[in-house]
Amino acid sequence: MTAFAYRAGWFHAEAVSLARVAEAVGTPVYCYAGSVLADGYRAFAAAFAGQDAGICYALKANSNLAVVGTLARLGAGADVVSEGELMRALAAGIPADRIVFSGVGKTRAEMKAALTAGIFQLNVESLPELEALSQVAAGLGVTAPVALRVNPDIDAGTHHKISTGRKENKFGIDIDHAREAYAFAAGLPGVRAVGVAVHIGSQLTSLAPFRAAFKKAAHLVQALRADGHAIDRLDLGGGLGIVYREETPPTPTDYAALVAEATQGLGCRVLLEPGRALVGNAGVLLTRVLYVKTGLHRRFVIVDAAMNDLIRPSLYDAWHGILPVAEPMPGSVAEPFDVVGPVCETGDTFAVQRPLVAPRPGDLMAVLSAGAYGAVMASTYNTRPLVPEVLVDGDRFAVIRPRVDCAALLALDRLPSWLE
Ligand SMILES: *Cc1c(COP(=O)(O)O)cnc(C)c1O
Repeated sequence: MTAFAYRAGWFHAEAVSLARVAEAVGTPVYCYAGSVLADGYRAFAAAFAGQDAGICYALKANSNLAVVGTLARLGAGADVVSEGELMRALAAGIPADRIVFSGVGKTRAEMKAALTAGIFQLNVESLPELEALSQVAAGLGVTAPVALRVNPDIDAGTHHKISTGRKENKFGIDIDHAREAYAFAAGLPGVRAVGVAVHIGSQLTSLAPFRAAFKKAAHLVQALRADGHAIDRLDLGGGLGIVYREETPPTPTDYAALVAEATQGLGCRVLLEPGRALVGNAGVLLTRVLYVKTGLHRRFVIVDAAMNDLIRPSLYDAWHGILPVAEPMPGSVAEPFDVVGPVCETGDTFAVQRPLVAPRPGDLMAVLSAGAYGAVMASTYNTRPLVPEVLVDGDRFAVIRPRVDCAALLALDRLPSWLE
């Protein structure tokens, strides 16, 4: 069964009509299908079953406790990039010894929180960060298990804002200087370099950049061992792409075969940090048409969701499928419309010249493939309430983040004494 599909004339998530969700919760709202999360994780885990591999779900793609909890119950570990995400992973039931802390700028407070929790690994991205971690760990009287994130100078061939593995990017330690960095680490108290980490970007739809990066990382492991370092972990990051439109990303099986090939004979524990690949196609953004406006040259569908709810089209020029929740009659003719939100920015556009069947005010629409980098990137720009989230399980659904009303937003502000 396809989780998101028309059934009896209405677009459904599993056995729940999205019209029912809109009725109960209002719009805009994110709606996730638990079965897609679970099936996606199981497929990924099954693909790596023959390897010594740990799957650390990258929380930054979607960190709702119910989403993380769904994956945690299936055995997922976590990749976190802040103390907040660390708290979420732990709260969702992921044990600390399955959590990796990534990110280019960890604070000392974050390092302390991670070490106190007993985290599996910290991925360090620079020598100054390594020194800070050394001081924090030594101060706590513990030894931090560290992987150095190296920058393999590989073009991931993805959007420039989500490409991270090239020399000019801010990420990691230049791979050509990695051996010096490990030698430096070996001389520091409180840290033990146990692994090598790479992550070259997101929404990769071809295996070639992965292959090039993983080979470089594997070679580095061998060189480091020859230098006398006991390296037994290889963190290959995330980045596996999904289908938004007509992409043909590698399947988890193809990806796992490549990992097996690139790490063969190394005897390393492999860590994987998929984010988007696990949650991207597990969610839609449900929105209602406010107005249909005929301009001089174009027709606009103005919906009640906006760039503050889903920023991917504005930020990355991302393409998302958009379907009416009420199934169009067979043979209906589609005409081009621009689908836009109410925010005063031209970038607040979900689709340009998209063929749609006569949208009318009040119609519901589903913006597809919105499970990753959707709700987590939402803001309250324009003092729009933070968008709520719903999780579907078969024929039932639950609100997993309620709509925060404007009064609660206003209540966060304080007037200084001179304005009271
Ligand atoms: C963003 C990120 C991920 C997850 O990327 P996806 O493209 O969502 O799989 C994994 N690891 C690191 C270090 C990241 O920065």
